[in-house]
Amino acid sequence: MQGSIHSIETMGTVDGPGLRYVVFTAGCPLRCKYCHNPDTWDIKNGKQMTVDKVLDDYEKYRPYLKNGGITVSGGEPLVQLEFVESLFREAKNRNIHTCLDTSGATFTNVGKRHETFIKLAEVTDLVMLDIKHIRTDGYYDLVKGNLNETLDFLKFLSKKNIDVWVRHVIVKGYTYKKEYLYELGYLIGGFRNIKAIDVLPYHVMGASKYDAMGIDYPLEGMDPMPKENAIKARQVIEAGIAKRLQDDKQKWLAVLIQNTANHFLYSIFVFVKKV
Ligand code: SF4
Repeated sequence: MQGSIHSIETMGTVDGPGLRYVVFTAGCPLRCKYCHNPDTWDIKNGKQMTVDKVLDDYEKYRPYLKNGGITVSGGEPLVQLEFVESLFREAKNRNIHTCLDTSGATFTNVGKRHETFIKLAEVTDLVMLDIKHIRTDGYYDLVKGNLNETLDFLKFLSKKNIDVWVRHVIVKGYTYKKEYLYELGYLIGGFRNIKAIDVLPYHVMGASKYDAMGIDYPLEGMDPMPKENAIKARQVIEAGIAKRLQDDKQKWLAVLIQNTANHFLYSIFVFVKKV
């Protein structure tokens, strides 16, 4: 099985736990306005590599990666779903920790492709899921994609009990709004498999690539987001999570009380019948 690989980073420090061997696949169906890797969009921009070629290269760095593993990022790795599944399956055979860095774009709950997602889940240790916007219309406006694919993928990962780290980029005028951040937190609070949240401030690195490619940079003139704003955003997200946990606890208590009451009524009924 061959994949189209844009590039490889042998000592990644921000793409999962520990030091990581990061494979950036080529091809992405989204067009995030802040994308700093537009050169990964076209699947034809990659170099063909087999699963064994990638993993044999990994072996050269294995001693340094013992607390890490392999991460597949992009582009959007799910564009090459079969390749990622094969790569992770062989990585697990070689006892390598696997992490998928994705937006969930192209996920589907139906058909043959879904069966491949089920196989991929068997060999994935961790997913870094980029939730780019919490509202359907805002999502489309910012990245030209379908939010449902991301959320359906999150539900799928929850059912499969796969750990998720959520990533969220804050962009002025798009995602950096209190109500959106709170809603995001409220959503996250409903998933027990989400283990971490990474709030990333918008930056302008990569903007020069647009010039080189002869295309307009959609956020031209926008200043980078200060780190302090990411801290504030995180606090709002955490407030949303706390509210969701509280609501779920109350719902759970309400169900428990209702079940107990039903059981009590049933006991009375049985008792009356016996009498
Ligand atoms: S998902 Fe967005 S940020 Fe990532 S490569 Fe695609 S367009 Fe760029």
